[in-house]
Amino acid sequence: MRVLITGGAGFLGSHITEKFLKEGNEVIVLDNLITSTVDNIAHLFGNEKFTFIKYNVVNYIYVKEEVDLILHFACPASPIDYQKHPIHTMKVDSLGTLNTLGLAKAKNSRFVFASTSEIYGSPQEHPQKEDYWGYVNPIGVRSVYDEAKRFSEAMSMAYFREYGIDIRILRIFNTYGPRMRANDGRVVSSFITKALKNEDITIYGDGTQTRSFCYVDDLTEGIYQISLKEGLSGEVFNIGNPEEIRIIDLAKLIIELTGSSSKIEYLPLPEDDPFRRKPDIEKIKRTIDWEPTVSLRAGLMKTIEYFKSILKK
Ligand code: UDP
Repeated sequence: MRVLITGGAGFLGSHITEKFLKEGNEVIVLDNLITSTVDNIAHLFGNEKFTFIKYNVVNYIYVKEEVDLILHFACPASPIDYQKHPIHTMKVDSLGTLNTLGLAKAKNSRFVFASTSEIYGSPQEHPQKEDYWGYVNPIGVRSVYDEAKRFSEAMSMAYFREYGIDIRILRIFNTYGPRMRANDGRVVSSFITKALKNEDITIYGDGTQTRSFCYVDDLTEGIYQISLKEGLSGEVFNIGNPEEIRIIDLAKLIIELTGSSSKIEYLPLPEDDPFRRKPDIEKIKRTIDWEPTVSLRAGLMKTIEYFKSILKK
């Protein structure tokens, strides 16, 4: 099978690229490297089934070869990144989605869209099920990401309804693991980096807000299986780990696991920061018999080892 992955040099994209190559597929990655790095895929360059093209998918995409499967994963995804690149974020999940869906139509490819738990905004229902419509501020600082992802979901469904394209939407909840950037501003990377340097850990708000964190290998496996299974056209799935934790408890756990002497510093809560977030994953469990297997402790230990190795460099 030939697979095209946009954003394939990013944190998630590079793990997915690796997985498809490992399973014997050809992979073409398109990535403009705005928030990613070739370091994530450098070890794949010797593989003759792998092609990397530095490209911004906001522009028309031309691919000579046939493509069986497209995964549209390009997009700045951490709150700091998408607020630093608000217009690009909106373009990549509007024009970029349009172009990748157009390519899927031209090549008759299956299309998997990387959506997000952010489409639920600051959810008023808990845990979040796929049939919940969300509670999003359309003009807040997070709206560039939330609304572009919502637009992309609508656009994917339009291509499914009008042209019968085999599209699948994955609403990805908080994910962590090796290849996150130390300075991406996300909570796991930020807490681990600070703990390893014995610097103050910054908690936004009082730390009682929750998230549910999935280790990247679990997520990659779920994405791979959803991409391969027949008969899921037009379906949307939550994907993530339902193990919910308060941010204050995450900070304490990371201090414990790193043996750090970091103290906790409290800073104001950013605008529109969701108070609770936890996926209901019954649908994906039922469909592909998948659920996360890596505990938060075990996943954090692997991630801490990764950050130790990059901070040494
Ligand atoms: N957060 C924090 N300190 C940090 C970074 C993040 O307290 O240094 C909080 C943030 O306000 C949010 C949660 O951790 O409530 C998760 O933030 P992240 O940016 O990782 O992702 P989000 O789920 O908000 O998109």
